[in-house]
Amino acid sequence: MSRVYNFSAGPAVLPEEVLKEAAAEMLDYRGTGMSVMEMSHRSKAYQAIIDQAEADLRALMGIPENYKVLFLQGGASQQFAMIPMNLMKNKVADYIITGQWAKKAWQEASLYGQANAVASSADKTFSYIPDCSDLPISENADYVYICENNTIYGTKFKQLPNTKGKDLVADVSSCFLSEPVDVSKYAMLYGGVQKNIGPAGVVIAIIREDLITEDVLPGTPTMLRYKTHADHGSMYNTPPAYGIYICGKVFRWLLDKGGLVEMGKYNEKKAAVLYNFLDSSRLFRGTVVKKDRSLMNVPFVTGDQALDAKFVKEAEAAGFVNLKGHRTVGGMRASIYNAMPIEGVEKLVQFMEKFEKENR
Ligand SMILES: *Cc1c(COP(=O)(O)O)cnc(C)c1O
Repeated sequence: MSRVYNFSAGPAVLPEEVLKEAAAEMLDYRGTGMSVMEMSHRSKAYQAIIDQAEADLRALMGIPENYKVLFLQGGASQQFAMIPMNLMKNKVADYIITGQWAKKAWQEASLYGQANAVASSADKTFSYIPDCSDLPISENADYVYICENNTIYGTKFKQLPNTKGKDLVADVSSCFLSEPVDVSKYAMLYGGVQKNIGPAGVVIAIIREDLITEDVLPGTPTMLRYKTHADHGSMYNTPPAYGIYICGKVFRWLLDKGGLVEMGKYNEKKAAVLYNFLDSSRLFRGTVVKKDRSLMNVPFVTGDQALDAKFVKEAEAAGFVNLKGHRTVGGMRASIYNAMPIEGVEKLVQFMEKFEKENR
């Protein structure tokens, strides 16, 4: 067996300890004589798994009592519709456009009401986070929406926008559990877990209870109402049972590592290894405004497309895989999520140093 350093943006690297534990439990989960995959979601054994997962997530993030944790399906993309269907009571919402995912969410919301783009960084290929200290927030906005960490462009909100008292909704797909978070500052935060937590197929939504009501847009399907899932402990229908089980193991792994404070410090240190190199390199450079750099997704270029392609190819042969940038931006991107060990980033930098010497 040989594992590579996987810099994929998602689905992405998972902790080796978690994968080994899941492998050991594959055929016989704790004396049940079956895999978690084969288990009824209505069984006692499974109820214990989902309950523990929720409890551990609440402990990790310090989720206040008045917030519900929902395990959903449909990807982060389905939330682009569920959010307006459930939360756009006045049919008005303000969106901050910092990349493709925010833009898609905004476009989807436009199907249901008046979705205003109140700020955007499209003018400079989304390489920065706009000043959000005094935005023209709509008087009757139901919420203000952000994509907190922009997976494709490598930017992150270091400070949440001033919503002028309106509820904040955030897509945290690619920064979920990467550092401490104050949940009470959000009305809702959510993310697909395949970036920083678990296998594709699970979405976690954390929503303030008072927002989960029957007052949804007319025609909202039962399955797309938060209330349906909240009222049934995320088991109105069959949940993505195995995926939730793996997420639960990752929550445990994080708690064992000292929780989000420790993880945040580790991520700062890890990202600094790569950013410091990029800032001193005479071949490679980062593409994002320094103060807005993501700790999770690090895009970089040489400035020469042919050389970028050569780098990606040689890196892959050396065991550093999935470094090709998003198809819309080109260049390279290293996603260095929680489960990427610092040694992976150090070795990548050594490889980049060598490539730089050979190609300048
Ligand atoms: C990947 C990603 C999405 C889309 O997720 P799906 O689960 O594929 O729908 C949305 N938002 C962000 C920030 C992402 O990184």
